Amino acid sequence: MTGRLLQEIGEFGLIHRIRKGITSSDPALVQGIGDDVAVIKMGETGTKVLLVTTDILIEDIHFDLSWTDPSQLGRKALAVNLSDIASMGGIPKYFLISLGLPKNLSLSFVSSFYRGLKKEAKPFRVELIGGDTSLSKKIVINICLLGEGIKKDLLFRRGARVGDDLFVSGTLGDAALGLRILQEKGKIRGAEGLIKKHLSPRPRIELGQVIAKHHWATAMIDVSDGVLIDTSHLLQESGVGARVWESRIPLSRLYRKWISHFSKDPFQLSLSGGEDYELLFTAPPELRERISSLARSLGIPITRIGEILPIKKGLQIIKTDGKHDSPSRLGFEHFR
Ligand code: ADP
Ligand code: MG
Repeated sequence: MTGRLLQEIGEFGLIHRIRKGITSSDPALVQGIGDDVAVIKMGETGTKVLLVTTDILIEDIHFDLSWTDPSQLGRKALAVNLSDIASMGGIPKYFLISLGLPKNLSLSFVSSFYRGLKKEAKPFRVELIGGDTSLSKKIVINICLLGEGIKKDLLFRRGARVGDDLFVSGTLGDAALGLRILQEKGKIRGAEGLIKKHLSPRPRIELGQVIAKHHWATAMIDVSDGVLIDTSHLLQESGVGARVWESRIPLSRLYRKWISHFSKDPFQLSLSGGEDYELLFTAPPELRERISSLARSLGIPITRIGEILPIKKGLQIIKTDGKHDSPSRLGFEHFR
């Protein structure tokens, strides 16, 4: 590492450097740094794999106590980790939680936070098995979630092939717009649905598992930093390029209603805003019908937003007016 500053290389530049310095010859390690989850073979045959993922939430970086209630915060802390297991098509099982807490924090805050955690854990049958606790100036929450999967069914960021379709579940930009509304207008009436998407994301565990079990995708990632930047991560790991049609980006009715108060361009925030926690995946065109009927049967919109191209094409965005764009800032990145 040189005398340069983190703000020059950004979060992903830093992870790239850390990754370059790590090599492993462990045959049990299926996936180390570079995907949503680390994957480790279990037992003699190695058909079953252990999944491990971790995510951190920091006060005033990831959440603002003036509009976050502790129970919601507990749910979200676990939900963002569940989303990473969803992106592999895995089964979440156990988690550890480490907390940095200021000494003047009320005990009722902590109780309510744990009630939220339990509420999120219950439907997924995930169990709390440990953690760590420390004094801190601001609230810091780190969860390490363990899960399991069948090696041949799992989906990685790598695996997308030229000619595949690019799909995304749900709608994009709601959480980012919800946050913007909270920051600029507060909890105003009529925008509750968008605010809820920011405060209470729902991980797509079932969708991820169904796609993986049926081998209906070639690669998958969860959209946590913004659809364009997460697409770029999938492309990078797969060694391919892609074209994304702006006009196909799925926008909710509420998003369409509120975005005009903030921007003339309705797509910019939906393409670059973070915290959608939707699944982005690639699949060969012959699976289109299967994917449509999956969307119908689960009642989750799944939209074909692009196609996979050779790597030399990079990531192209086709604007609604037909012009091609290759934006330099794709989405959210720490230190930038
Ligand atoms: P996600 O948004 O899915 O949580 P990240 O962008 O945070 O993924 O991380 C990408 C990859 O880099 C993951 O494999 C993650 O484990 C790894 N990673 C992130 N930060 C670090 C770090 N400080 N040291 C080592 N690996 C890291
Ligand atoms: Mg992820």
